[in-house]
Amino acid sequence: MAENRKQKILIADDSEMNRSILADMLGDDYDIIEVENGREAVVVLQKQAAQIDLVLLDIVMPEMDGFGVLKAMNDFRWIETTPVIMISAESAPARVRQAYELGITDFISRPFDAVVVHHRVVNTLFMYAKQKKLANMVTDQVLEKEKQSAMMIDILSHIVEFRNEESGWHVQHIRVITELILKQINRMTDKYKFSKSDIAVISTAAAIHDVGKIAIPGEILNKPGRLTDEEFAIMKTHAQVGASMLKALPVYQNEPLVRRAYEICRWHHERYDGRGYPDGLKGDEIPIAAQVVALADVYDALTSDRVYKKAFSHEKAVRMILNGECGQFNPLLMDCLREASDSIRIAAVSNEIRDWNDPNVLRNLTEELMQREEMSASDRTLQLLEHERMKYQFFADMSQEIQFEYTVSPPSVMISEWGARHLGLDEIIRDPHHDEKVLAIMGAEGMQKLAGLLRCSTPKKPIVNFDCVIRLGGVERWMKIIARATWSKDEPPVYTGAIGKATDIHETRVKMAELEELAAHDTMTGLYNHRFAKLRIQDMMARKPESHFALGIFDVDYFKQANDTYGHMFGDQVLIHVAKTLKRNMREGTVSARVGGDEFLLFFEYREHVDLAINRIFNSLIGNYESFPISVSMGVAKTQMLGMDYDTLFHAADQALYAAKRGGRRQFRFYDGDSSNTLSLITPIESDAAKPEGAAAGDPEEQPADK
Ligand code: GH3
Ligand code: MG
Repeated sequence: MAENRKQKILIADDSEMNRSILADMLGDDYDIIEVENGREAVVVLQKQAAQIDLVLLDIVMPEMDGFGVLKAMNDFRWIETTPVIMISAESAPARVRQAYELGITDFISRPFDAVVVHHRVVNTLFMYAKQKKLANMVTDQVLEKEKQSAMMIDILSHIVEFRNEESGWHVQHIRVITELILKQINRMTDKYKFSKSDIAVISTAAAIHDVGKIAIPGEILNKPGRLTDEEFAIMKTHAQVGASMLKALPVYQNEPLVRRAYEICRWHHERYDGRGYPDGLKGDEIPIAAQVVALADVYDALTSDRVYKKAFSHEKAVRMILNGECGQFNPLLMDCLREASDSIRIAAVSNEIRDWNDPNVLRNLTEELMQREEMSASDRTLQLLEHERMKYQFFADMSQEIQFEYTVSPPSVMISEWGARHLGLDEIIRDPHHDEKVLAIMGAEGMQKLAGLLRCSTPKKPIVNFDCVIRLGGVERWMKIIARATWSKDEPPVYTGAIGKATDIHETRVKMAELEELAAHDTMTGLYNHRFAKLRIQDMMARKPESHFALGIFDVDYFKQANDTYGHMFGDQVLIHVAKTLKRNMREGTVSARVGGDEFLLFFEYREHVDLAINRIFNSLIGNYESFPISVSMGVAKTQMLGMDYDTLFHAADQALYAAKRGGRRQFRFYDGDSSNTLSLITPIESDAAKPEGAAAGDPEEQPADK
């Protein structure tokens, strides 16, 4: 198919008006073929099914309705490569279901919205392009082998026919008609359940049903007049001879093809009432494959010119068979013949033989092969997939997220409905790397970077996080993209695309930046500064209103002396040392900060024994930095008593600290609300560390207040 040819749409509708609306709508972008009834549609498809990219089909039409067209499309497998969208005013659920069962891709009820139809046409064509691509992936090798063996069968059956002086199309017809009848049997009964592979094997085996005729003398085989009884007896041996030839094959005896061929060769002249030959089998004693080929053989004999007769019309031939003029057949097969009559008539007039150089023949064969490998999805799978798609679409809508699916080949992006609306893009974007709208939003650089990240991911580490700025309605916004690359199961795996979602984090971003600025740590100690600690603490309390928290403030005792004795730099080192000691001894989840100067803060959640926790931290802070002895005084306030207001807590802890200083330092106190701001002392564990030299021993404030 040439890349730049316009895609072709066949519109089958009996209303001139409807056709014209559709043609107007689609005519600019597509080549349109219009027909006014189902029969004409089938004629067009017969001639150029491979060139028709989409059928828009009405249901109610004269001569042959939409369902008739669908049936023919199934029989000839056009439906597998040519999508159908049904457009009809008739939307009774049963009819719609029936249409879907016959393989339509979409159903649009009248009156339709032109834009919707346009979208669906575009989407359907796009989806099928993908599927066709898949079909082409079957390796050339397999194709080549299939081609060789199919050609061998063609040649073999032509040798038989050549001696037979038959039309040359005989074998082709038998093959196609056998296939049509088998499919019809599947539709009418569950008795046989022929798989696609069964159908392929039987119709191929049917091609050599007359192989035994090579043992029949030419004079008898091609005698123009009636055969004598003796001649007829010889003629009849071809069934046995063919079967014997197959039995005598040194190999392949267990192959389904050979076994079916044996049945067909031996019993294709048996009759349902037991009056056939060679074995006089009756009813279901005759293998079904042989029964079907027998019917196909009789039909073809009737509708072809023979040395002794002219061809009958399709209608006459079918009538003769149904009337029992050609021997008795299985009633089920009679029903099948009646039902499949239209398709058989079409097949009988199309004298097509596979042309191996025709790309369409190759493509159809590829698809046939894929099906035989059971690679195509079953109806049930398709239904499940459809269900998944609906679910996904629903959740994507609800979550108001931009979800997307990217395929490398053909390059395309599918975006969730909401996402597409939000970004002002189509739901399906072909070749996104060159799509103007996409580039305008994401920028070429952003696209390349994301594509690069995905390409460089591995099947083991397929997740990619990517923040980027997008341009939406002239405004720049931050987007967070999380995507998961998809890899094929090949060895080595091939990168095939990605799924992902993009979240608009514009607002979050701004808030984060503010927080980051606030979070500026105290540069010297690396602890939080007071402002940020306060925010964190307020946040913790708001999140867990039922919990108990303690807020402690402590101040280094006689710190001024460190500065005064050893200099300011040394003083700094002391503060850094204190901060480190604090960090080392804090439990996880504790907030610690430098309030300012030599004053520090800690805040943590506790279940019970807060005094023990404070005692532990307090004692860990007692020690030396070089020769400078360090101790602290600490005041503690509890939310249990004061509630969750930060300022109240801070003020109370500060008061308790003040009391601890006055009480002689090197101790901690809890703020005791019950005795209205009087402070209770819990005696700290004594430490041996001495008071620094020259500490103001005579300071009146130093007298323990509560002792
Ligand atoms: P107290 O036992 O009553 O706490 O006595 P103190 O000597 O520790 O006195 P106070 O806490 O009132 O004094 C803190 C001193 O810490 C005051 C200030 O000169 C000093 N200071 C404040 N910030 C820094 C700093 O960043 N580095 C250094 N080296 N000294 C600081
Ligand atoms: Mg101090």
